[in-house]
Amino acid sequence: MNISVIGSGYVGLVIGACLAKLGNTITLVDTDKDRVAAINNNVAYLYEVELDEILKQVHIEARTDYRGVTDSDIILICVDTPSDETGSISLKSIIEAAEQLAEEMEGKENYYVVVVKSTVTPGTTEEVVIPILEKSGGKIGVDFGVCMSPEFLSEGKAVQDFMHPARVIFGEYDKKSGDTLSNLYHNFNAPILRTNLRTAEMIKLASNAFLSTKISFINEIGNLCKQLGIDTYEVAKGMGFDERIGSKFLNAGIGFGGSCLPKDLKALITSSEQIGYKPRILQEVLDFNDKQALRLIELLKRHIALKGANIGLLGLSFKPGTNDMRDSSAIKIAQALFQEGAIVKAYDPLAAENFKRLFPQIEYTSKEDILNCDAILIITEWEEFNNLDYKGKIVIDGRRILKAKEARIYEGICW
Ligand code: NAD
Repeated sequence: MNISVIGSGYVGLVIGACLAKLGNTITLVDTDKDRVAAINNNVAYLYEVELDEILKQVHIEARTDYRGVTDSDIILICVDTPSDETGSISLKSIIEAAEQLAEEMEGKENYYVVVVKSTVTPGTTEEVVIPILEKSGGKIGVDFGVCMSPEFLSEGKAVQDFMHPARVIFGEYDKKSGDTLSNLYHNFNAPILRTNLRTAEMIKLASNAFLSTKISFINEIGNLCKQLGIDTYEVAKGMGFDERIGSKFLNAGIGFGGSCLPKDLKALITSSEQIGYKPRILQEVLDFNDKQALRLIELLKRHIALKGANIGLLGLSFKPGTNDMRDSSAIKIAQALFQEGAIVKAYDPLAAENFKRLFPQIEYTSKEDILNCDAILIITEWEEFNNLDYKGKIVIDGRRILKAKEARIYEGICW
């Protein structure tokens, strides 16, 4: 099929590359000139397993303007929808994308389907995106179709997640829109749920809210287990055999971060409040998570005075396998350490460059050098941290790196 992808970030670039690999003709559109130039040079400007290889195998045209996108059968909108200062989702990029698309749609006669893949709150596709697209003069259901199909890939294994999804959700304006989109997925071996637009939007937010809740839940159990001298990972293992619970997302630690879980949870909370419903469980999950990472500092203070101390951070990204540090717990931890007057050094195999933009005052060094600090905080569970020699060190571990237990003083956040 002929597919245009608007927005070539983590989601758009991975989807575009994967769909090109599956034999589709792909045009990527992004307002960021550097990203467009990198893609046209077949270079992945972001780190994602397998992505670089795929980009070298396929031909993708990337551009900064929207010319020709409506010649496609399907147009996927994958622009960013970050939190604004109130916690709501900022619709700035999606509104701009829809407006630019509407201009290009004027006078077009071929039928195509516009698919919102960006995460948005229920009602956004119907109340914001469709009215803008209709400004083109085209009639929805006749000249063009609309779907909302949330994306569930997770960074670090985005290619595999997109190629082998656990499920595919089509929120469809009408049957013709959904039928067109289903042509794109006919080779995928995944259950497909066809539903309406706002249900699809809610499925995405509810899924991320559930995962966030599961993490905060096990962290609460973990905090309790630590006080009781019980191994929280053994507890999680015992719980996980129950299919109703499942074993995933039960690793107690410093909490969730990243570009999706915190912002999607905040978006669900604020959109609920806007209609007069106070989501108490969700609010507590968020508040609890905000404090969890800082427990690492509290534990550290039991062993060392922070003023003037050299504190080394092992890991900066919000999880291994990515250089994305959006909403990473490392940000809160670094801020707290500076407030306490500590001198901070850091190592991350991929995310150091991105972190440097936020914290230029940190000394970015090798992992071996981090071991020379007065104390070490483990923030991301990079596999390579299992190969370090922690003997004689003070280590406070947020991620359960077993080798670190050899340290002279070792404390886990929940164990
Ligand atoms: P991103 O910030 O990495 O990329 C968004 C891209 O859109 C940027 O390259 C930006 O330049 C481009 N853009 C902005 N406005 C534009 C416009 N008007 N026209 C063309 N391009 C424009 O964001 P992302 O992480 O890829 O996320 C995209 C969406 O997918 C978000 O709604 C996010 O919540 C959702 N999502 C993300 C993930 C993830 O793991 N990152 C997973 C599932 C869903």
